[in-house]
Amino acid sequence: MKVTNGLHAFIWRNPAANNCNTYFIDGSQKIIIDPGHQHLFDHVRKGLAGLNLSLNQIDVVLTTHGHPDHMEAVQQLEEPTLFAMSQAEHKFIKDIAGNYFKIPEPDFFLGEGDLTIGDTTFQVIVTPGHSPGSVCLYWPDRKALFTGDVVFSRSIGRTDLPGGSSSLLKESIKRISMLDVEYLLTGHGEIVAGVEAVRANFQMIENYWFKHLR
Ligand SMILES: [Zn+2]
Repeated sequence: MKVTNGLHAFIWRNPAANNCNTYFIDGSQKIIIDPGHQHLFDHVRKGLAGLNLSLNQIDVVLTTHGHPDHMEAVQQLEEPTLFAMSQAEHKFIKDIAGNYFKIPEPDFFLGEGDLTIGDTTFQVIVTPGHSPGSVCLYWPDRKALFTGDVVFSRSIGRTDLPGGSSSLLKESIKRISMLDVEYLLTGHGEIVAGVEAVRANFQMIENYWFKHLR
């Protein structure tokens, strides 16, 4: 579905299988964020086909973190598509899951600060807690925040997986809640659209979920 100008969401709605939402930015460079599971990648392929695009037109693939339900399908996007994730997350996921799924070598790393790809400029925000090297991507031009598994609609990322930390997740959520966001583009479930709805979502998380994070 089209979220706003140049931004599409391929929302995963099959409760029988775990997979992430995938986002597509149709700028001067074509960018995919979180391609998801390898065996469920047809979901993305079909979404792109609906926009008359094929995989070989994708310039860059970014992942918010290294869990296989977000990044396993990076291997579907081979050269010349560039791949980037956080360096800390890459090391972490290689150490714990390198034997379980293929973890490609990034062409560049995502670190705190501005990242310009073609005519799209993101702020990369390092947001550990769900996994140690998670990042959120903020796109100020569209007031869009790609959160990975840091926050969801009315919920937050789990912290009981290896490298998780509830105190760090709380700090990460506080940081991203300060941003001016109209589209909260979550790694799972429905997105949250509208400045007021996004604000209310962070308020609900603070009121309810922060009690569980210490
Ligand atoms: Zn995850």
